[in-house]
Amino acid sequence: MSLVVAEHLEKTYHIGDISVTAIRGVDFTIQPGSFVSFVGPSGSGKSTLLNMIGCLDPPSRGSLQVADQDIVSLNRQQAAQFRGANIGFVFQDFNLIPVLTVFENVEYPLLMVQNWPAPARKKRVSELLEAVGMGDQGNKYPRQISGGQKQRVAVARALVTNAKLVLADEPTANLDGETANRIIQLMKKMRDEFNTAFVFSTHDPKVMRNAEIVFTLEDGKLLKRPNDEGGPHA
Ligand code: ADP
Ligand code: MG
Repeated sequence: MSLVVAEHLEKTYHIGDISVTAIRGVDFTIQPGSFVSFVGPSGSGKSTLLNMIGCLDPPSRGSLQVADQDIVSLNRQQAAQFRGANIGFVFQDFNLIPVLTVFENVEYPLLMVQNWPAPARKKRVSELLEAVGMGDQGNKYPRQISGGQKQRVAVARALVTNAKLVLADEPTANLDGETANRIIQLMKKMRDEFNTAFVFSTHDPKVMRNAEIVFTLEDGKLLKRPNDEGGPHA
């Protein structure tokens, strides 16, 4: 059973009288536990696509299913609820909450969307911090740790609710090359450990090399991959 199924997916933004079609009819599937990258130059539609998969922005046309849920039919509130329960996010600029400690940042999604008893919650957060190599940094604040460490915390936060899908829009854009590679390797290790599918976007060839499946976007369309028989389906 596919985790994500997109068919003839389109997205058009309307700004006053002007329309911009950012995604022009794409078809793809993503399997549970896969390690996938959407690549393409700036403006090719990577963020638009990830935002649709993440139920942050509704498609204009076509169909999109995530974990067997038809995303197109959800209203805003349902989308938010679905997102909280099923999808983790890692951002380019880390998006940690500055007034919360590392531990509290990872704990936050559990307080928001799931009703965990305190001891189980603390245990879960500790496990995730250990898993990303930040087990001894829980009491620090985001300003006291490096960019690479912040992104480790963000990966822990994305996984803490047991999401089956983590979306990361250019997660290495604000990291140096070596740190970028370490974060991608960490995401892969987390995939191996938790069987969470990771879908990240990048325009950096060194980063995209680490993906197991690469979808290339160009001007809102998916390029046919060399090994494909019948078009850009995974
Ligand atoms: P990428 O992430 O690959 O850089 P985006 O998905 O951000 O590409 O953008 C794809 C296209 O859609 C671009 O032409 C961009 O200007 C346009 N676009 C993106 N977001 C919006 C928006 N909120 N309103 C209008 N146009 C947008
Ligand atoms: Mg983008």
